[in-house]
Amino acid sequence: MKDKYEAVIGLEVHAQLKTKTKMFCGCKNEFTNEPNINVCPVCLGHPGSLPVINKKAVELAVKAALALNCKIHKKSVFARKHYFYPDLPKNYQISQYEEPFATDGYLIIEKKDGTKKKIRIRRIHMEEDAGKSIHEEHFSKVDLNRAGVPLIEIVSEPDISDPEEARLYMQKLRDILVWIGVSDGNLEEGSLRCDANVSIRPKGSDKLGTKVEIKNLNSFKFIEKALRYEINRQIEVLSQGGKITQETRLYDSQKDITKTMRSKEEAEDYRYFPDPDLPPLLIDDTWLEEIKASLGELPDEFKERVIKDYKIKPSDADILSRNKTLAYFFEEAAKSYKGEAQKVANLILSDLLGILKEEKMKIEDLKFPASYIGELLNLVDKNIISLKVAKEEVLPEMVKTSESPQTIVEKKGLKQITDVSSIEKIIKQAFENNPKAVKQYKTGDERKKQKAIQFFIGQVMKATKGKANPKLTRELIIKLLNEV
Ligand code: ADP
Ligand code: MG
Ligand code: ZN
Repeated sequence: MKDKYEAVIGLEVHAQLKTKTKMFCGCKNEFTNEPNINVCPVCLGHPGSLPVINKKAVELAVKAALALNCKIHKKSVFARKHYFYPDLPKNYQISQYEEPFATDGYLIIEKKDGTKKKIRIRRIHMEEDAGKSIHEEHFSKVDLNRAGVPLIEIVSEPDISDPEEARLYMQKLRDILVWIGVSDGNLEEGSLRCDANVSIRPKGSDKLGTKVEIKNLNSFKFIEKALRYEINRQIEVLSQGGKITQETRLYDSQKDITKTMRSKEEAEDYRYFPDPDLPPLLIDDTWLEEIKASLGELPDEFKERVIKDYKIKPSDADILSRNKTLAYFFEEAAKSYKGEAQKVANLILSDLLGILKEEKMKIEDLKFPASYIGELLNLVDKNIISLKVAKEEVLPEMVKTSESPQTIVEKKGLKQITDVSSIEKIIKQAFENNPKAVKQYKTGDERKKQKAIQFFIGQVMKATKGKANPKLTRELIIKLLNEV
């Protein structure tokens, strides 16, 4: 039954904008646990107060729309969207409806198998957030710190075909918004929120089926799981001869199911009309050009460029392009390294990130310049330390103390031993202590010989705390074994 149907998905994503103040008043836009401290007559909806458009919010919204390849409209209109809820003081939300500021964009997702898909964006509009209701057992509390916080809503076309694509779209969207500094992109904290619309239809049909909207998807995993459940539910209903009702459903992550919240009959009429308190929003060409110029390189552009300029693996470039700080940290490090940039990528992506994880730190917390990474690898190439010592001794110390690799090598006495006579002395001592192994080399077959060589390398490394130059050590061991 399952392969007779295909899913059609469209996402509506709300992103809080990282401004200092709210959308239409001067109250602080900050996440705080103390309720109702960032409020004023405007965001409390007191009669006689008037909204003023926050220029910075518009700038960030336009930035987002440009990064998402949208057409920016010179004129857009704020509208009132009416509904009654305790956390909405004015009984309407200022939003944009018939004339949003941006339309016709797209975003490209890349699937696991490397194929790319374009997901069209229908529109982006600006609006203000509502407050928060906290429901206790016998009463509810309202916190209006969030009321009036600037949001953009990004509405996709129904171009998404399965739950995995939906997750990839959402992740890509988050990565872009965070990269350009428009939003925190934190799903758990609600600075990025996603509603998913989903319908099914017979495979190959070009008619859209009846859609269901799913709310409360506060993690990437839940987006995928909720859609998977909902698609199966709809297939079940249709294959039993039933009909899908257009409704809003809630995802229950504990039970991993969706359940009815309200049906279409209960859907509200928002009585949209242009807000008479606000003039149309005008974005002139000069300002638009300024915002464009401030956008800088986007994640996909970075990725393409580093693959070309630094010849690193596309999969590594992809990981780097998901975090702006990490991305440019890599580039700075690669610039100060004289060898292949892939080695820098390896050291950062596996070793450095591993250490950071252990230390519960982020790349942003590092206090040493990225060039130290390049210098560390230069020391390896100059045979001053081994790669093993670089990874296991120097790099963790760099993270802890922010000292330069040179300083750490000096301080901890980690310089590689490349002096022939001192290594020979250690080898001879090892022979003396382990006559059996020497005999094994002398009388054994090729496999036994190799084992003996390995054993003595181990002995020398132990005696020198890993500081003997490995290549030289090996050569000297073989030479001396053949001489005894
Ligand atoms: P509404 O008026 O109910 O908000 P819209 O047409 O504005 O519906 O679409 C809202 C979202 O739902 C968009 O992201 C759109 O791509 C998606 N969508 C619309 N119709 C369908 C459908 N039949 N199946 C899945 N998604 C849909
Ligand atoms: Mg809608
Ligand atoms: Zn206010």
